[in-house]
Amino acid sequence: MATKRDYYDVLGVNKTAEAQEIKKAYRKLAMKYHPDKNPGDKEAEEKFKEINEAYEVLSDETKRRNYDQFGHEGVNGQGFGGQGFGGQGFGGFDDIFGDIFGDMFGGGFGGGRQRRRGPERGADIRQSVTISFEEAAFGKKVQVKVNRSEECDECHGSGAKPGTSKKTCPTCNGSGQVQSVQRTPFGNIASTRTCATCNGEGEVIDSPCSKCHGKGSIRKTKTIEVDIPAGIDEGQMIKLSGQGELGTRGGPRGDLYIVVNVKNHSLFTREGYDVYLEMPITFAQAALGDKIKVPTLDGQVEYTIPEGTQTGTVFRLKSKGIPKLRSNVRGDQYVKVTVEIPKKLNEKQKDLIREFAKECGEEVHERQKTLSDKVDSFFKNLKKNK
Ligand SMILES: [Zn+2]
Ligand SMILES: [Zn+2]
Repeated sequence: MATKRDYYDVLGVNKTAEAQEIKKAYRKLAMKYHPDKNPGDKEAEEKFKEINEAYEVLSDETKRRNYDQFGHEGVNGQGFGGQGFGGQGFGGFDDIFGDIFGDMFGGGFGGGRQRRRGPERGADIRQSVTISFEEAAFGKKVQVKVNRSEECDECHGSGAKPGTSKKTCPTCNGSGQVQSVQRTPFGNIASTRTCATCNGEGEVIDSPCSKCHGKGSIRKTKTIEVDIPAGIDEGQMIKLSGQGELGTRGGPRGDLYIVVNVKNHSLFTREGYDVYLEMPITFAQAALGDKIKVPTLDGQVEYTIPEGTQTGTVFRLKSKGIPKLRSNVRGDQYVKVTVEIPKKLNEKQKDLIREFAKECGEEVHERQKTLSDKVDSFFKNLKKNK
């Protein structure tokens, strides 16, 4: 279901179409693509599902309004979570089916087909976890608390009071559907609907379990250990298969997605697997060169900056960055030096700098001259262009 077609396009109606028009368009298409009419035709089956999905939304005022406002997102999670139309028959739309095909074909459609609801996979869960910059770099085992459905330990998931059991639904005799016959001027019309007594399950509980009230599951907070791999970055997800919500009627659990948030570091920033650090040095260090101590993820390393280092110079510490996910290779660390100009000087320091400037004399002056020449010619060009 990666790219979904617009529901109005699917049914071939306008966005302003009246309910009656939508129903008519749906009937026409559903008749054409019904699997009973196209046995073994996968394409027709897909088409049929698509039509039904569109109709389920557009025929429901609330869902249609949500869809008009938010598109497919607006109706997701309300029954079409992404696996509603999985591989287990057409469980999801028995109701519409009954309404429309029932009176159209006199219930003859799909006769004998088992409509009792099958197993359904549980929903997925998203849970976020926040870790430090270093933990993201080197990996960590974290304990994540997840609130999810667990099998009721009183009834072991059956929903029936211990000592009792579910029994076959007396209304539908376990088929999950009921037929009714209506007399009309055109003859008897039979229709098939989902059994209201058992809700299509085929089984009913006489004495429900007192702990889960017949649901078979209860909500619990479970602590799950998650192994966060070295190199993970902000917003990335770890999928734990089969750790989501319980399935129904024996279906498998959904999946658990752990979304990783990484805290900012006071010194380092990260770009991919490389680490960036801004390192202040003094004017004297920049001018004369020095051995400086640079913080890295591995602790402190020594680096020799050459004399005459300019502010903004970037040097690289190879393989001092972040380990690449599932690999032994590491990114690099880039260190950008910023020369700090002293803000408060005492008289003696000022004198020394004045002396220094005098000593530099021509050379310093020369450089300033070239820069001021550039500035002059920039303004001259501006005037010319006016
Ligand atoms: Zn129970
Ligand atoms: Zn029933």
